[in-house]
Amino acid sequence: MTVSKGYAAQDKTTPLAPFSFERRDPLPTDIAIDILYCGVCHSDLHMARNEWGNSLYPMVPGHEIVGKVTFVGSAVTKFKVGQIAAIGVIIDSCRKCPSCNAGEEQYCEDGMVLTYAQPDRVEGRLTQGGYSSNYVVDERFAHTVPENLNLAGVAPLLCAGITTYSPLRHWKVEPGKKVGIVGLGGLGHMALKFAHSFGAHVVQFTTSEAKRADALRLGADEVVLSKDDAQMKKHENSFDFILDAVSAPHDINAYTALLKRDAAMALVGLPDVPPVINIGNLVFKRAALSGSLIGGMPQTQEMLDYCGEHNITSDVEIVPMQKINEAFERMLKQDVKYRFVIDMATL
Ligand code: NAP
Ligand code: ZN
Ligand code: ZN
Repeated sequence: MTVSKGYAAQDKTTPLAPFSFERRDPLPTDIAIDILYCGVCHSDLHMARNEWGNSLYPMVPGHEIVGKVTFVGSAVTKFKVGQIAAIGVIIDSCRKCPSCNAGEEQYCEDGMVLTYAQPDRVEGRLTQGGYSSNYVVDERFAHTVPENLNLAGVAPLLCAGITTYSPLRHWKVEPGKKVGIVGLGGLGHMALKFAHSFGAHVVQFTTSEAKRADALRLGADEVVLSKDDAQMKKHENSFDFILDAVSAPHDINAYTALLKRDAAMALVGLPDVPPVINIGNLVFKRAALSGSLIGGMPQTQEMLDYCGEHNITSDVEIVPMQKINEAFERMLKQDVKYRFVIDMATL
Protein backbone atom coordinates (compact mmCIF):
# COMPACT_ATOMS: atom_id res chain seq x y z
CA MET A 1 0.00 0.00 0.00
CA THR A 2 1.12 3.55 -0.71
CA VAL A 3 0.55 5.95 2.15
CA SER A 4 -0.87 9.28 1.06
CA LYS A 5 -1.39 12.59 2.84
CA GLY A 6 -4.11 15.00 1.86
CA TYR A 7 -6.89 17.34 2.91
CA ALA A 8 -10.34 15.80 3.35
CA ALA A 9 -13.91 16.73 4.16
CA GLN A 10 -15.33 14.38 6.82
CA ASP A 11 -18.93 15.42 6.12
CA LYS A 12 -20.78 18.15 4.24
CA THR A 13 -20.37 20.79 6.94
CA THR A 14 -16.80 20.49 8.20
CA PRO A 15 -13.92 22.41 6.58
CA LEU A 16 -11.25 20.41 4.76
CA ALA A 17 -8.52 19.26 7.17
CA PRO A 18 -5.34 17.09 7.10
CA PHE A 19 -6.03 13.40 6.48
CA SER A 20 -3.89 10.29 5.88
CA PHE A 21 -5.02 7.31 3.84
CA GLU A 22 -3.72 4.45 1.66
CA ARG A 23 -3.79 3.96 -2.09
CA ARG A 24 -3.79 0.55 -3.76
CA ASP A 25 -0.61 -1.22 -4.79
CA PRO A 26 -0.02 -0.43 -8.48
CA LEU A 27 -1.19 -3.05 -11.03
CA PRO A 28 0.94 -3.90 -14.11
CA THR A 29 -0.86 -1.22 -16.19
CA ASP A 30 -0.71 1.41 -13.41
CA ILE A 31 1.55 4.37 -12.88
CA ALA A 32 2.13 6.15 -9.56
CA ILE A 33 2.76 9.88 -9.45
CA ASP A 34 3.82 12.44 -6.87
CA ILE A 35 1.39 15.32 -7.28
CA LEU A 36 2.91 18.73 -8.02
CA TYR A 37 -0.23 20.83 -8.62
CA CYS A 38 -3.98 20.35 -8.30
CA GLY A 39 -6.61 22.80 -9.55
CA VAL A 40 -9.64 23.78 -7.48
CA CYS A 41 -12.81 23.15 -9.50
CA HIS A 42 -16.25 24.38 -8.44
CA SER A 43 -17.33 20.72 -8.61
CA ASP A 44 -14.94 20.08 -5.68
CA LEU A 45 -16.96 22.55 -3.64
CA HIS A 46 -20.33 21.12 -4.81
CA MET A 47 -19.06 17.63 -3.87
CA ALA A 48 -17.40 18.52 -0.52
CA ARG A 49 -20.69 20.12 0.57
CA ASN A 50 -22.87 17.33 -0.89
CA GLU A 51 -24.78 19.79 -3.07
CA TRP A 52 -25.60 17.04 -5.59
CA GLY A 53 -26.70 14.61 -2.85
CA ASN A 54 -24.31 11.76 -3.82
CA SER A 55 -21.17 12.52 -1.83
CA LEU A 56 -19.26 9.83 0.08
CA TYR A 57 -16.89 10.67 2.96
CA PRO A 58 -14.15 10.99 4.00
CA MET A 59 -13.51 12.88 0.75
CA VAL A 60 -10.22 14.21 -0.59
CA PRO A 61 -11.39 16.37 -3.54
CA GLY A 62 -9.31 17.34 -6.58
CA HIS A 63 -9.44 16.24 -10.22
CA GLU A 64 -7.12 18.63 -12.03
CA ILE A 65 -3.87 16.83 -11.30
CA VAL A 66 -0.33 17.21 -12.60
CA GLY A 67 2.54 15.21 -11.15
CA LYS A 68 5.81 13.39 -11.67
CA VAL A 69 5.83 9.66 -12.41
CA THR A 70 7.54 7.71 -9.59
CA PHE A 71 6.66 4.16 -10.67
CA VAL A 72 5.53 2.39 -13.85
CA GLY A 73 3.98 -1.09 -13.87
CA SER A 74 5.52 -3.82 -16.04
CA ALA A 75 2.88 -3.40 -18.81
CA VAL A 76 2.99 0.42 -18.98
CA THR A 77 3.96 1.77 -22.42
CA LYS A 78 3.12 5.50 -22.33
CA PHE A 79 5.21 6.70 -19.37
CA LYS A 80 8.68 6.50 -17.88
CA VAL A 81 9.75 7.29 -14.33
CA GLY A 82 10.54 10.99 -14.00
CA GLN A 83 8.13 12.08 -16.75
CA ILE A 84 5.19 14.48 -16.10
CA ALA A 85 1.69 12.95 -16.15
CA ALA A 86 -1.76 14.47 -15.78
CA ILE A 87 -5.01 13.01 -14.41
CA GLY A 88 -8.49 14.46 -14.77
CA VAL A 89 -12.02 13.74 -13.57
CA ILE A 90 -12.26 10.00 -14.28
CA ILE A 91 -9.85 7.18 -13.48
CA ASP A 92 -11.68 4.11 -14.79
CA SER A 93 -14.66 2.83 -16.79
CA CYS A 94 -15.89 -0.55 -18.08
CA ARG A 95 -13.59 -0.28 -21.16
CA LYS A 96 -15.91 -2.39 -23.35
CA CYS A 97 -19.24 -0.56 -23.90
CA PRO A 98 -19.91 1.47 -27.07
CA SER A 99 -18.96 4.74 -25.32
CA CYS A 100 -15.69 3.32 -23.96
CA ASN A 101 -14.87 1.79 -27.35
CA ALA A 102 -15.46 5.21 -28.92
CA GLY A 103 -13.03 6.83 -26.46
CA GLU A 104 -15.90 8.66 -24.73
CA GLU A 105 -15.26 6.98 -21.37
CA GLN A 106 -17.06 9.77 -19.49
CA TYR A 107 -20.33 8.42 -20.95
CA CYS A 108 -19.52 4.78 -20.01
CA GLU A 109 -22.79 2.85 -20.01
CA ASP A 110 -21.68 0.88 -16.98
CA GLY A 111 -20.63 4.01 -15.11
CA MET A 112 -17.26 5.75 -15.08
CA VAL A 113 -15.25 5.87 -11.86
CA LEU A 114 -14.60 9.40 -10.62
CA THR A 115 -11.17 10.47 -9.39
CA TYR A 116 -12.59 10.84 -5.90
CA ALA A 117 -15.60 9.83 -3.80
CA GLN A 118 -16.44 6.60 -5.64
CA PRO A 119 -15.59 2.94 -4.98
CA ASP A 120 -12.89 1.85 -7.47
CA ARG A 121 -13.29 -1.18 -9.76
CA VAL A 122 -10.21 -2.95 -8.40
CA GLU A 123 -10.84 -3.33 -4.67
CA GLY A 124 -14.01 -1.33 -4.02
CA ARG A 125 -11.85 1.20 -2.18
CA LEU A 126 -13.20 4.76 -2.10
CA THR A 127 -11.20 6.87 -4.57
CA GLN A 128 -9.47 9.92 -3.10
CA GLY A 129 -8.57 12.94 -5.22
CA GLY A 130 -5.68 15.23 -5.94
CA TYR A 131 -5.62 17.47 -2.86
CA SER A 132 -2.99 14.95 -1.78
CA SER A 133 0.61 13.84 -2.11
CA ASN A 134 0.28 11.09 -4.75
CA TYR A 135 -2.00 9.07 -7.02
CA VAL A 136 -2.09 5.55 -8.52
CA VAL A 137 -3.93 5.20 -11.85
CA ASP A 138 -4.18 2.99 -14.93
CA GLU A 139 -2.17 4.61 -17.73
CA ARG A 140 -5.26 4.72 -19.99
CA PHE A 141 -6.62 7.44 -17.68
CA ALA A 142 -3.40 9.47 -17.49
CA HIS A 143 -2.05 11.91 -20.09
CA THR A 144 1.30 13.20 -21.24
CA VAL A 145 1.95 16.93 -20.96
CA PRO A 146 3.65 19.10 -23.62
CA GLU A 147 7.05 20.18 -22.27
CA ASN A 148 6.69 23.86 -23.13
CA LEU A 149 3.75 24.52 -20.80
CA ASN A 150 3.82 25.91 -17.25
CA LEU A 151 2.69 23.03 -15.04
CA ALA A 152 0.55 25.05 -12.60
CA GLY A 153 -1.34 26.45 -15.59
CA VAL A 154 -1.72 22.94 -17.06
CA ALA A 155 -3.53 21.46 -14.03
CA PRO A 156 -6.90 23.18 -14.73
CA LEU A 157 -6.84 21.92 -18.33
CA LEU A 158 -7.68 18.47 -16.96
CA CYS A 159 -11.24 19.56 -16.07
CA ALA A 160 -11.95 23.21 -16.93
CA GLY A 161 -10.00 22.79 -20.18
CA ILE A 162 -11.44 19.57 -21.54
CA THR A 163 -15.00 20.33 -20.32
CA THR A 164 -15.07 23.41 -22.54
CA TYR A 165 -12.86 22.19 -25.41
CA SER A 166 -15.12 19.16 -25.97
CA PRO A 167 -18.49 20.93 -26.60
CA LEU A 168 -16.79 23.71 -28.59
CA ARG A 169 -15.38 21.02 -30.91
CA HIS A 170 -18.64 19.00 -30.93
CA TRP A 171 -20.66 22.06 -32.02
CA LYS A 172 -18.00 22.99 -34.59
CA VAL A 173 -16.94 26.39 -33.32
CA GLU A 174 -14.82 27.94 -36.08
CA PRO A 175 -14.22 31.15 -38.05
CA GLY A 176 -17.46 32.79 -39.17
CA LYS A 177 -19.42 31.58 -36.11
CA LYS A 178 -20.75 33.88 -33.39
CA VAL A 179 -20.26 32.17 -30.03
CA GLY A 180 -21.33 33.18 -26.52
CA ILE A 181 -19.68 32.08 -23.28
CA VAL A 182 -21.77 32.50 -20.12
CA GLY A 183 -19.85 33.02 -16.86
CA LEU A 184 -16.20 34.01 -16.61
CA GLY A 185 -14.96 31.53 -14.01
CA GLY A 186 -12.58 28.60 -14.23
CA LEU A 187 -14.48 26.87 -17.04
CA GLY A 188 -15.62 30.11 -18.66
CA HIS A 189 -12.14 31.57 -19.06
CA MET A 190 -10.90 28.37 -20.73
CA ALA A 191 -13.96 28.35 -23.02
CA LEU A 192 -13.17 31.93 -23.97
CA LYS A 193 -9.53 31.12 -24.74
CA PHE A 194 -10.47 28.09 -26.86
CA ALA A 195 -13.35 29.75 -28.76
CA HIS A 196 -11.06 32.68 -29.58
CA SER A 197 -8.27 30.31 -30.60
CA PHE A 198 -10.67 28.38 -32.90
CA GLY A 199 -11.31 31.67 -34.75
CA ALA A 200 -14.92 32.41 -33.74
CA HIS A 201 -16.38 35.83 -32.94
CA VAL A 202 -16.69 35.47 -29.15
CA VAL A 203 -19.06 37.31 -26.83
CA GLN A 204 -18.41 36.89 -23.11
CA PHE A 205 -21.45 37.19 -20.82
CA THR A 206 -20.71 38.08 -17.21
CA THR A 207 -22.48 39.30 -14.09
CA SER A 208 -19.25 41.00 -13.00
CA GLU A 209 -18.58 44.36 -14.69
CA ALA A 210 -15.13 44.29 -13.05
CA LYS A 211 -14.14 41.36 -15.31
CA ARG A 212 -14.71 43.29 -18.57
CA ALA A 213 -11.06 44.22 -19.17
CA ASP A 214 -9.90 40.67 -18.40
CA ALA A 215 -12.47 39.21 -20.79
CA LEU A 216 -11.16 41.39 -23.61
CA ARG A 217 -7.56 40.43 -22.74
CA LEU A 218 -8.49 36.74 -22.72
CA GLY A 219 -9.87 36.96 -26.27
CA ALA A 220 -13.46 38.27 -26.16
CA ASP A 221 -14.54 40.38 -29.13
CA GLU A 222 -17.43 41.78 -27.07
CA VAL A 223 -18.40 41.66 -23.40
CA VAL A 224 -22.04 41.81 -22.26
CA LEU A 225 -23.16 42.52 -18.70
CA SER A 226 -25.94 39.94 -18.47
CA LYS A 227 -27.93 41.94 -15.89
CA ASP A 228 -28.38 44.76 -18.42
CA ASP A 229 -31.49 43.97 -20.52
CA ALA A 230 -30.64 46.56 -23.18
CA GLN A 231 -27.18 45.02 -23.76
CA MET A 232 -28.76 41.54 -23.94
CA LYS A 233 -31.51 42.60 -26.37
CA LYS A 234 -28.98 43.87 -28.91
CA HIS A 235 -27.86 40.24 -29.43
CA GLU A 236 -31.30 38.63 -29.96
CA ASN A 237 -31.43 35.96 -32.71
CA SER A 238 -27.73 36.24 -33.47
CA PHE A 239 -25.76 33.35 -31.94
CA ASP A 240 -24.67 30.11 -33.62
CA PHE A 241 -23.67 28.57 -30.31
CA ILE A 242 -23.71 29.46 -26.61
CA LEU A 243 -21.82 27.59 -23.87
CA ASP A 244 -23.14 28.08 -20.33
CA ALA A 245 -20.54 27.49 -17.57
CA VAL A 246 -22.35 29.04 -14.61
CA SER A 247 -22.19 27.33 -11.21
CA ALA A 248 -25.36 28.80 -9.62
CA PRO A 249 -29.06 28.85 -10.57
CA HIS A 250 -29.78 31.53 -13.21
CA ASP A 251 -32.18 32.25 -16.10
CA ILE A 252 -31.04 30.21 -19.10
CA ASN A 253 -33.99 31.49 -21.18
CA ALA A 254 -32.26 34.87 -21.34
CA TYR A 255 -29.65 33.07 -23.49
CA THR A 256 -31.81 30.74 -25.62
CA ALA A 257 -33.55 33.99 -26.69
CA LEU A 258 -30.27 35.02 -28.28
CA LEU A 259 -29.88 31.91 -30.49
CA LYS A 260 -30.40 32.01 -34.27
CA ARG A 261 -32.65 29.53 -36.05
CA ASP A 262 -31.09 26.01 -35.86
CA ALA A 263 -28.49 27.16 -33.33
CA ALA A 264 -27.52 25.37 -30.11
CA MET A 265 -26.83 26.06 -26.48
CA ALA A 266 -24.85 23.61 -24.35
CA LEU A 267 -24.87 23.53 -20.56
CA VAL A 268 -21.75 22.45 -18.69
CA GLY A 269 -22.43 24.25 -15.40
CA LEU A 270 -24.18 22.05 -12.84
CA PRO A 271 -26.13 24.22 -10.36
CA ASP A 272 -27.90 22.24 -7.63
CA VAL A 273 -31.36 23.55 -8.67
CA PRO A 274 -32.78 22.54 -12.09
CA PRO A 275 -33.52 25.40 -14.54
CA VAL A 276 -36.97 26.45 -15.76
CA ILE A 277 -37.01 26.11 -19.57
CA ASN A 278 -38.98 28.35 -21.93
CA ILE A 279 -39.80 25.74 -24.59
CA GLY A 280 -41.01 28.44 -27.01
CA ASN A 281 -37.47 29.82 -27.29
CA LEU A 282 -36.43 26.42 -28.68
CA VAL A 283 -39.54 25.37 -30.67
CA PHE A 284 -39.91 28.60 -32.58
CA LYS A 285 -36.28 28.46 -33.76
CA ARG A 286 -35.71 24.69 -34.02
CA ALA A 287 -32.95 25.40 -31.51
CA ALA A 288 -31.14 22.72 -29.50
CA LEU A 289 -30.50 22.74 -25.77
CA SER A 290 -27.85 20.20 -24.83
CA GLY A 291 -25.36 19.25 -22.16
CA SER A 292 -21.79 18.03 -22.13
CA LEU A 293 -19.64 16.14 -19.64
CA ILE A 294 -15.85 16.62 -19.48
CA GLY A 295 -14.29 14.67 -22.41
CA GLY A 296 -12.94 11.23 -23.30
CA MET A 297 -9.34 10.12 -22.93
CA PRO A 298 -8.31 10.58 -26.61
CA GLN A 299 -9.85 14.05 -26.75
CA THR A 300 -8.23 15.04 -23.44
CA GLN A 301 -4.82 14.17 -24.91
CA GLU A 302 -5.76 16.02 -28.14
CA MET A 303 -6.68 19.09 -26.05
CA LEU A 304 -3.39 19.00 -24.10
CA ASP A 305 -1.42 18.68 -27.34
CA TYR A 306 -3.44 21.56 -28.87
CA CYS A 307 -2.58 23.68 -25.80
CA GLY A 308 1.09 22.82 -26.27
CA GLU A 309 0.99 23.88 -29.93
CA HIS A 310 -0.91 27.10 -29.23
CA ASN A 311 0.69 27.89 -25.87
CA ILE A 312 -2.60 27.86 -23.98
CA THR A 313 -2.77 27.40 -20.19
CA SER A 314 -5.13 28.53 -17.44
CA ASP A 315 -4.70 31.86 -15.65
CA VAL A 316 -4.03 30.71 -12.11
CA GLU A 317 -3.60 31.94 -8.56
CA ILE A 318 -1.35 29.49 -6.73
CA VAL A 319 -2.38 28.81 -3.13
CA PRO A 320 -0.90 26.67 -0.36
CA MET A 321 -2.85 23.57 0.71
CA GLN A 322 -3.60 25.19 4.07
CA LYS A 323 -5.64 27.95 2.34
CA ILE A 324 -8.11 25.61 0.63
CA ASN A 325 -11.11 26.57 2.75
CA GLU A 326 -10.45 30.26 2.09
CA ALA A 327 -10.13 29.47 -1.65
CA PHE A 328 -13.57 27.77 -1.58
CA GLU A 329 -15.14 30.86 0.01
CA ARG A 330 -13.47 33.20 -2.48
CA MET A 331 -14.62 31.02 -5.39
CA LEU A 332 -18.21 31.35 -4.12
CA LYS A 333 -17.81 35.14 -4.16
CA GLN A 334 -16.58 35.02 -7.79
CA ASP A 335 -13.24 36.28 -6.50
CA VAL A 336 -10.80 34.12 -8.48
CA LYS A 337 -8.71 34.95 -11.56
CA TYR A 338 -9.44 32.46 -12.90
CA ARG A 339 -8.51 29.21 -11.19
CA PHE A 340 -7.00 28.44 -7.83
CA VAL A 341 -4.23 25.85 -8.08
CA ILE A 342 -2.77 24.19 -4.99
CA ASP A 343 1.02 23.92 -4.86
CA MET A 344 1.32 20.45 -3.39
CA ALA A 345 4.84 21.13 -2.11
CA THR A 346 3.09 23.06 0.69
CA LEU A 347 1.26 19.96 1.95
P1 NAP B 1 -16.38 29.06 -11.05
O1 NAP B 1 -14.93 29.22 -11.33
O2 NAP B 1 -16.89 29.34 -9.69
O3 NAP B 1 -17.15 29.97 -12.13
C1 NAP B 1 -18.54 30.08 -12.16
C2 NAP B 1 -18.93 31.41 -12.78
O4 NAP B 1 -20.36 31.46 -12.86
C3 NAP B 1 -18.56 32.62 -11.94
O5 NAP B 1 -17.27 33.05 -12.17
C4 NAP B 1 -19.57 33.65 -12.42
O6 NAP B 1 -19.14 34.26 -13.62
C5 NAP B 1 -20.80 32.80 -12.75
N1 NAP B 1 -21.78 32.87 -11.66
C6 NAP B 1 -21.60 32.49 -10.36
N2 NAP B 1 -22.73 32.68 -9.65
C7 NAP B 1 -23.63 33.19 -10.53
C8 NAP B 1 -25.01 33.58 -10.41
N3 NAP B 1 -25.66 33.51 -9.24
N4 NAP B 1 -25.64 34.04 -11.53
C9 NAP B 1 -24.99 34.12 -12.70
N5 NAP B 1 -23.70 33.77 -12.87
C10 NAP B 1 -23.04 33.32 -11.79
O7 NAP B 1 -16.86 27.57 -11.38
P2 NAP B 1 -16.23 26.51 -12.44
O8 NAP B 1 -15.20 25.70 -11.74
O9 NAP B 1 -15.92 27.20 -13.70
O10 NAP B 1 -17.48 25.54 -12.64
C11 NAP B 1 -18.69 26.01 -13.23
C12 NAP B 1 -19.76 24.94 -13.16
O11 NAP B 1 -19.42 23.88 -14.06
C13 NAP B 1 -19.92 24.28 -11.79
O12 NAP B 1 -21.30 24.07 -11.55
C14 NAP B 1 -19.20 22.96 -11.95
O13 NAP B 1 -19.66 21.96 -11.07
C15 NAP B 1 -19.54 22.63 -13.37
N6 NAP B 1 -18.66 21.66 -14.03
C16 NAP B 1 -19.19 20.83 -14.95
C17 NAP B 1 -18.41 19.95 -15.65
C18 NAP B 1 -18.99 19.08 -16.72
O14 NAP B 1 -18.35 18.10 -17.12
N7 NAP B 1 -20.14 19.39 -17.25
C19 NAP B 1 -17.04 19.90 -15.39
C20 NAP B 1 -16.50 20.76 -14.46
C21 NAP B 1 -17.32 21.65 -13.79
P3 NAP B 1 -19.28 35.87 -13.83
O15 NAP B 1 -18.60 36.50 -12.63
O16 NAP B 1 -18.58 36.10 -15.09
O17 NAP B 1 -20.75 36.16 -13.90
ZN1 ZN C 1 -13.99 19.86 -12.37
ZN1 ZN D 1 -17.95 1.64 -20.67
